[in-house]
Parts: sequence; C-alpha cells; structure tokens
Amino acid sequence: MGPSMLACLLHGYQQPAGAANGEIAGSGLLPPGVIHANLMTGLLNLEQQMQLDAGRLVGARQVASPHYNSRPQGEQPSLLVIHNISLPPGEFGGPWIDALFTGTLDPDAHPYFAEIAALRVSAHCLIRRDGEIVQYVPFNQRAWHAGVSCWQGRESCNDFSIGIELEGTDVLPYTDAQYQSLTRVTRLLMQHYPLTAENITGHSDIAPQRKTDPGAAFDWQRYRQMITEAASMEDPGA
Ligand SMILES: [Zn+2]
Repeated sequence: MGPSMLACLLHGYQQPAGAANGEIAGSGLLPPGVIHANLMTGLLNLEQQMQLDAGRLVGARQVASPHYNSRPQGEQPSLLVIHNISLPPGEFGGPWIDALFTGTLDPDAHPYFAEIAALRVSAHCLIRRDGEIVQYVPFNQRAWHAGVSCWQGRESCNDFSIGIELEGTDVLPYTDAQYQSLTRVTRLLMQHYPLTAENITGHSDIAPQRKTDPGAAFDWQRYRQMITEAASMEDPGA
C-alpha cells in the first residue's frame, strides 16, 4: 500500500457520512419569501434556458479541451468537486484558463506559466467572476481535474466526478453571480445524474495533502442553502 492509498483510507475513514448537509435546509434563519424573491431574479428565468444536450450545457460557451477520456464502463457522475483557479494567480478575466485547459498556454507569457504550461489538465466547467459558464468537457466524459484523490474510500475521483472551477482564489469572496450560476448548474446536474447534495465537496477534501481550493472564501452554507431553495422552487409542493 503506497502513501496515497494510506492517505486515502485515512481520509475516507475520517469522512463523516452525510456531513455538512441536512441541517441547512430548514427555513429557520430568513423568511422563505425573502430567499425566494432574491433567487428568482437570478435563477428562474435562466433555468428555463439551462438544459443538457449530450453532456453539454446548452447556452454555455463551449471550448473543446483535448484533456479528457472516457469514464469507466457504465460509470455515471456521482460526485461534484468544486475548485478554484485564476491565471495568473489572483488575476481575473484573461484568456489563460481556456489556454491551460486546451493545452495552448504560452509558457513565456508569464513567469508562472512556465511551471504549468505542460500540464494536461481540464475541468468540465469554469464559472467566471461575472457568472459566465464555460464548458471544456462534456459531463459524460472524464475530465482531468482531481488528480490523486479519494472520496469516502474510493480513489481516482475523476472516474466518477464532475469538476467545476470557480474563477477565484482561496481568500477572496466569490461573486453573487458565481453562486447563482453554480447553483443552476448543480441543480441541473442533480436532475440528470445520480448526484445528491451530500455528494458535493471541495478539491481540498479529496486531495487534502495537495490542494486547498476552493478555500475558506467559499461559503458552503450559502451554496447549500441556495441549492435547497432552488430545488423547492422547482417543486413548490415539496
Ligand atoms: Zn482544484
């Protein structure tokens, strides 16, 4: 057993089942109408457009990455991994993330790029600071976002997960538009794949020795509350 497997087992053992979910769904803190009103402006009209077609988000900007392969036979995505990325680190809005994920990053364009330009990595989606969604790999394919990783005792999370990158850093708050886009995509994925609210985690949770993203800046409670509220709007009788 190698160190990574040991770490995997240890981490899996420490992972409480269904942790960090289930207590946030209640209506305790804010009157439901307030939350609904806030969300409706950002979610409802956009959800009408959001659909999947052969693993692609209709309406998202599609940028084809060569950095993917097939999932194992019969494997459906059952885990959602939240990441962050910014290139150069701490700078937003440039073309560099698309370049990295398509294998075209110029190693000379910035000192940091020389370290990473040869990496063959991708994610299924990126959500930019303004909420724009860019898709690099269809959800039914295996993107290369997780690396050496482990979720509840199972290694190689790329096999069975979807990776979504938020343009950002571990410490700078993510934008309202990012939370809204992420919530919309999450609900869509939960409707199409065997993916539950309990099976959403951060890169830092599946690769704790190596990764820190999405960082303390990511408000898990807010995200989970938005998922719950979005679900209740989809099915008001529930
Ligand atoms: Zn990551």
